[in-house]
Amino acid sequence: MDNVEKILSAMALEDKIALCEGANFWQTRAMDRYGIPAVFMCDGPHGLRKQESLGGTDMLGVNESIPATCFPTAVTLADSWDTQLIEEVGTAIGEEAEAMGVALVLGPGANIKRNPLCGRNFEYFSEDPLLAGKLAAAHIKGLQSNGTCASLKHFAANNCETSRFNSDSVMDERTLHEIYLAAFETAIKEARPATVMCAYNKLNGIHCSDNKKLLTDILRSEWGFDGLVITDWGAMNDRVEGFLAGCDLNMPGGSNYMFKNVLAAVKSRRLSEASINNSARRMLRFIERSRKSASGSPSFEAHNTLARRAAAEGAVLLQNEGALPIKHGQKTVLIGEMARTPRYQGSGSSHINPTHVTSAIEAMPDAEFALGCTESGETTPELIAEAVMAARTADVAVIFAGLPDRYESEGFDREDMAMPEGHIELIQAVATANPNTVVVLSCGGAVECPWAERVNAVLYAGLPGQAGGAAIADLLYGRVNPSGKLAETWPVSYTDCAVHPYFTSGRDAEYREGVYVGYRYYDKAGVKPRWTFGHGLSYTTFAYSDLRVEGMSVTCTVTNTGLVPGAEVAQLYIAAPQNGVHRPVKELRGFKKVFLQPGESAKLHFELTERCFAIWQDGWKVPVGEYTVLVGGGLDDLQLCTKLHVDGVTLPIPAWQPGSWYESPLGAPSKSGWETVLGRAHKEASPQKGAYTMDDTLLDMKARSFVMRCVYKGVEATVANGTGGKRDPSDPEFRMMMASSAGAPIRVMQINGAIRGGLFAGLVDMANGHYLRGLWRMIRG
Ligand code: BGC
Repeated sequence: MDNVEKILSAMALEDKIALCEGANFWQTRAMDRYGIPAVFMCDGPHGLRKQESLGGTDMLGVNESIPATCFPTAVTLADSWDTQLIEEVGTAIGEEAEAMGVALVLGPGANIKRNPLCGRNFEYFSEDPLLAGKLAAAHIKGLQSNGTCASLKHFAANNCETSRFNSDSVMDERTLHEIYLAAFETAIKEARPATVMCAYNKLNGIHCSDNKKLLTDILRSEWGFDGLVITDWGAMNDRVEGFLAGCDLNMPGGSNYMFKNVLAAVKSRRLSEASINNSARRMLRFIERSRKSASGSPSFEAHNTLARRAAAEGAVLLQNEGALPIKHGQKTVLIGEMARTPRYQGSGSSHINPTHVTSAIEAMPDAEFALGCTESGETTPELIAEAVMAARTADVAVIFAGLPDRYESEGFDREDMAMPEGHIELIQAVATANPNTVVVLSCGGAVECPWAERVNAVLYAGLPGQAGGAAIADLLYGRVNPSGKLAETWPVSYTDCAVHPYFTSGRDAEYREGVYVGYRYYDKAGVKPRWTFGHGLSYTTFAYSDLRVEGMSVTCTVTNTGLVPGAEVAQLYIAAPQNGVHRPVKELRGFKKVFLQPGESAKLHFELTERCFAIWQDGWKVPVGEYTVLVGGGLDDLQLCTKLHVDGVTLPIPAWQPGSWYESPLGAPSKSGWETVLGRAHKEASPQKGAYTMDDTLLDMKARSFVMRCVYKGVEATVANGTGGKRDPSDPEFRMMMASSAGAPIRVMQINGAIRGGLFAGLVDMANGHYLRGLWRMIRG
């Protein structure tokens, strides 16, 4: 019997249940009598957010944390398409974790960017599952290389922030497997994360925390995951169902959530002790492998240099008519508050207290500066006039624009894809004054760029981390050659997105567009985006030749045909036959980043697998037929192609397919068409007085309950107090905190508030009109 089994067999049932809930916001429970130590964890994903005092803890990045390197956020790391670089970043975060005594870092996030408006897109890698999965795997490998544990999150189908705690992600099985599970599958199989974090939302009607199909049948039995499943903070719905589903650790701790219900369920044999043992055993194994104390001292300077390199590699040169790189001696003016006060990371739980921040004006001391607009994106005729004047006398005018903080954050989704009016006005005015106008965009996702044709060059920095200013300077001056490629499509306008009429139109997320996510939709519908998936320019050029396919091996040659050294991301897509079950036109099936001197060539090798051709129809199946292999530097730059016959099966075409949106998608799919694919109607739950539960929110209940109205007012006042005393919905912190309290189910408030006893259950009774019962429940605790 090993040590874990010995401890387990000595533990009382109550202690095993208690071990499966955290001790507080960031720690697991120590149990001295069994020799079980506590383990410390913190966010993730692009640096550490370790809150020193356990009193000042929160899940929204509001309270201060210990300084740590703020690496580029996932949006920028992903645009590098560089697995080796991302592994290095993961390793560096692991070293900082070791020095701070952090055993578990909560990240990376492998959720798919389903729509540009998701408030957390900056924390996610891509709209493509292969890219998201490979990059998440690289991050985990790096992070875990020194013994730090990773938590792959948010499993699964958590693709918007609206009603994030209780919305239902409703989709057909094919979409689930091909798009929303595939990235997690790759990351789990290739990198074996120590833990997986289950998401807040429901998946097809069942909360992820209670979802046995997700957490046991798919994650463990199909994919072979043998680690710990932890909840997102407050995501546990029903602790009994959680144990049955294989959800091990309820975080944060302190509320003793449903402890008595679990005991009662064991007594009544609804829940076997064996299920609790399984979770407790996984807890003990996790604790056994986890770091318990701090050691080592990372080089923050080296990490800052790495952050700078990563930011430069992840920046995407979207367009360039020749203004870039800035030539030696050219008089340059930097315009916009973001050049001085950079926007380099997003708001919410991933918010890091950086060790150092470099702005563009610090990194380009020879350039002039004109304010042009305020930090919140507003401008005035005076500011514009001053910027135009400076631009007129300069050789190159570089405008720093994008999305100010208040536009995107964890906790809410963007309302539209527009940049602030002030930024647009400023760009248009400066572009008229100087033909060499360059726009540097800082934002966590795609924005509409109606001004693009009027400017010479556009460089997308994403949210580039603390060294972003230095990296931008490297790229503008040509000390580094841009090599990033878009990991998400940039549509011309938001209305081009198939999802736009129904994304967040209700509490539930209806995945009506099925597998036609990102480029899979634009490509099939023939809608031309502003910049396609995989697009990115360089100061040099690359040519592809010699495409060969032998069996499942694909080789080709890429050559740097320009005058300067540079890196290229070679991308391999498979185009499937279109005469059977409906499918995307092309799908990314491989990529490689190579650095080449001028005139240098490299031979690239891609190994295909059956999955590259398969679709999900009650399991993975390969339709027989003629496929095409395409290779190039982006979906808009596929230079080579060749045919390939693949043996497989003839799959039955579903009866609803002929003539449907899915066969030739354009615009938004209808609800009824989607329900036919789904095989059932979808009706959103609407909370009713008399039937309110712990899964309903203050917002749901306050209109019909005086008690909940009072609680709501109290919460609003507390939140306002914590954010400068004002009830200001335009303040992202206020919005985020209101969404995470009043917009969260009552059970989430109880768990995250570490509140024990029957207070909240009593309030729900009262909201249902049962005042005495509610009072009794509160008093009884
Ligand atoms: C977020 C997680 C985060 C956790 C702890 C939650 O609100 O969704 O991504 O790891 O808080 O801060």
